[in-house]
Amino acid sequence: MNESDRKILTNQLGECWHEWGYVRGSVKQEIFQCVKCGETCKGIVNCHQKNRTFDNPEDFFVLWNWVKKKDWWKDFLHAANECAMTNDIKEQGIAGKYYIINTKWFPEMILIFGKKKLGWK
Ligand SMILES: [Zn+2]
Repeated sequence: MNESDRKILTNQLGECWHEWGYVRGSVKQEIFQCVKCGETCKGIVNCHQKNRTFDNPEDFFVLWNWVKKKDWWKDFLHAANECAMTNDIKEQGIAGKYYIINTKWFPEMILIFGKKKLGWK
């Protein structure tokens, strides 16, 4: 999942994909502010880590809880079972519905479904 994909998912969640602009500070303590939502943070590395990566349990459950409430949740499950699996997933040989309970594959499949069926860009 590339940065553009992570940005699409983050925006779909209704969250800000932060874009940091330099505000002030010394080399040791630079302050950045998101040009979109106004949030501030210290240190550019720390700032970039504030955007979701969708490769960890926290992001998985945020996405899971959000998707479950969508009216397309059942369509997603059906599509995931039928044909939305990527070749990568098939190669992994993960059977049944359990492949969606996976920090890496679940966001990927939501993204594929969103792009194909919901017009996400
Ligand atoms: Zn922001």
